[in-house]
Amino acid sequence: MNFDDAFTMTIDNEPVAAHETMRVVNPHNGQTFAQAPRAAEADLDRAIRSARRAFPGWRAMPLATRSAALLALADALDAEAAGFAQLLTREQGKAAAEARGEIASCVRWLRETVQSAMADAELCDAPVAKLGVTMQRVPLGVVAAIAPWNFPLLLGIWKVAPALVSGNTMVFKPSPFTPLTSLKFGELARRHLPPGVLNVLSGDDELGPMLTAHPGIDKIAFTGSTATGRAVMRSASAHLTRVTLELGGNDPAIVMPDVDLDAVVPKLFTAAFRNAGQFCVAAKRMYVHRDIYESFKERFVAHARSRVVGNGADPATHMGPVQNALQLKRLHGLVEHCAEQGYVFALGGRFTPSAGYHVPITILDNPPDDSRPVAEEAFGPVLPLLAFDSIDEVVARANSTEYGLAASVWCRDPATATAIAQRLAAGTVWINTIHDLSPLRPFAGHKQSGFGVENGRDGLHEYTAPRVIVAEAAN
Ligand code: NAD
Repeated sequence: MNFDDAFTMTIDNEPVAAHETMRVVNPHNGQTFAQAPRAAEADLDRAIRSARRAFPGWRAMPLATRSAALLALADALDAEAAGFAQLLTREQGKAAAEARGEIASCVRWLRETVQSAMADAELCDAPVAKLGVTMQRVPLGVVAAIAPWNFPLLLGIWKVAPALVSGNTMVFKPSPFTPLTSLKFGELARRHLPPGVLNVLSGDDELGPMLTAHPGIDKIAFTGSTATGRAVMRSASAHLTRVTLELGGNDPAIVMPDVDLDAVVPKLFTAAFRNAGQFCVAAKRMYVHRDIYESFKERFVAHARSRVVGNGADPATHMGPVQNALQLKRLHGLVEHCAEQGYVFALGGRFTPSAGYHVPITILDNPPDDSRPVAEEAFGPVLPLLAFDSIDEVVARANSTEYGLAASVWCRDPATATAIAQRLAAGTVWINTIHDLSPLRPFAGHKQSGFGVENGRDGLHEYTAPRVIVAEAAN
């Protein structure tokens, strides 16, 4: 596969260039390196018509046939993984190892989601009982998938895999900041899926609202910010389109005094600064027991200083730039605000101008709970360390947010760790680990971090509606 040629959209398995294009920028140097199609309303109408046409045939195929096509697509992606990962670093900025990890996860999600669907008794096309009750899960129709720019392809695949294997067809819209890997994935899918089953459209800020308001869409699967999630839900109400929303988070990590600091400091650093902190489930507020706070801070900062920040394409880089100029400006503003407020920086606090969107690792030393770096989702490499004294206190502070995506507890004593975990208002709680996600486990934000479920059986079933057939003898 050629990753340098013109990038085209996929509609009805045809390459579509669109009349207008938009620039795609490499976040490392701020330079435009590619043009992506900017879909017009007519392109969207055509994609939705194509998906609607494809739906009856795709739905009617045996589950085993749909699965085989999707598994072949997973193999094809696996075979092209190196090219996809390089392109991902160029458009997103992430370090090369992280980009390879994301593409490997895309392959895994496709494979394991398909395998789990094949084992699902309600999805499989078992015959309807002549007498008695049969439970079936039937597909909804055309799904609109909308992804953000932090894990551009993976968060698309989280939707593509369950939606398609369960018999739906799709229009997939990546973020305008990171459309290229998704467009290439569409190109790959043309060889493995029937026309219209997966359409991939890139476009500007107008495309998302057009897609969610379209009467030809039966379900919206969205990942992005909580603010946009609210807009999507408003838009979906016009046609009562079903929604699954995976939204923002402000995840607490709770570090108890019995931890082995040498072991946990590198893990907690990665927890917060992976993908330059642009991770919905990054540890965004780090609560450290006061008994170890100073020694933890010292080691954490020393570890941070040892990390290489720079060009994601350089294999020595641990942390790349943030993804776009808006994000850079927002983070710059946040750090300036912290300085103005007199908050103490354990590391960072000053921006040095660079050609690209590089943000230095910034660690705040115990700012107030109501300060912006604690109360807001920074979504970048800016982390507050916070001292706490008691479990009751830290649980209350951890839960005092509108978000409830995930959390982590770091503690040697299993009884204490599980007791804390059970009091946290979050869809996923990790103990002595973090970011261990699986296609087989439900991922669902509590409170304003989400609406509905992705992954696991619950996630698969979100792309279906139950149909119950109750049969009695005629006389
Ligand atoms: P965003 O909400 O700005 O954009 C997400 C997607 O929605 C993009 O494709 C965008 O073009 C589209 N969009 C924007 N406005 C729209 C509208 N009115 N209608 C329909 N679509 C619209 O989010 P982002 O800045 O790309 O991503 C960062 C956010 O995503 C963070 O808040 C992060 O926590 C969240 N996120 C959540 C998860 C999760 O699984 N919960 C995962 C990753 C990121």
